[in-house]
Amino acid sequence: MSHRRKILITSALPYANGPIHLGHLVEYIQTDIWARFQKMRGNECYYVCADDAHGTPIMLRAQAEGITPEELIARVSEEHQADFAGFNIQFDHYHSTNSPENKHFASYIYNQLNDKGHISRKTIKQFYDPEKEMFLPDRFIKGTCPKCKAEDQYGDNCEACGATYSPTELIDPKSAVSGATPVEKETDHLFFELSHFEKNAQRLDAPRSPANPNRQQVGRMV
Ligand SMILES: [Zn+2]
Repeated sequence: MSHRRKILITSALPYANGPIHLGHLVEYIQTDIWARFQKMRGNECYYVCADDAHGTPIMLRAQAEGITPEELIARVSEEHQADFAGFNIQFDHYHSTNSPENKHFASYIYNQLNDKGHISRKTIKQFYDPEKEMFLPDRFIKGTCPKCKAEDQYGDNCEACGATYSPTELIDPKSAVSGATPVEKETDHLFFELSHFEKNAQRLDAPRSPANPNRQQVGRMV
């Protein structure tokens, strides 16, 4: 080998609201094989992963089980890691998005972007469950499809006719959490101005050439 490559690998973070299934394992096993191959070639290679421990489904699952979200994600993390170990998947590091390190780096990145004007704020209207007193993600609103009139469809698309729409277009919308009729409420959302980085993204994706010898390989298993 001409030089020792430095390679950082991850897989999609498994969601901390339920067990690992075989579909997940296909990805982790393939990635593990590739990581072992790179290590055997003498490259400096790290395979890291973590539980994704944030989101409404985790909060609702914990409520349904009568435990705190922290208790749920601690239990699921143990289950996930036992399953990975059972399939001989060797992470160099396995952690959680609910960690002080992640909080530190997420805040650090956010503040850097915000200070440089790459974050914008917009007020949008979103459905709100007046009984549970929470804003509802699209998947937690059900109602009748505005196109084909199929009942009991999600707030973002219809499984009967394949139509996509916004939750406000649903006929007779209901909160999937409480069954209450949601109300529209204004809420401030933060948007990352991805277009500010268009040139950087194009450069990363450009072919390696004499003019661009240091192109980094991003998201590609090559
Ligand atoms: Zn439909």
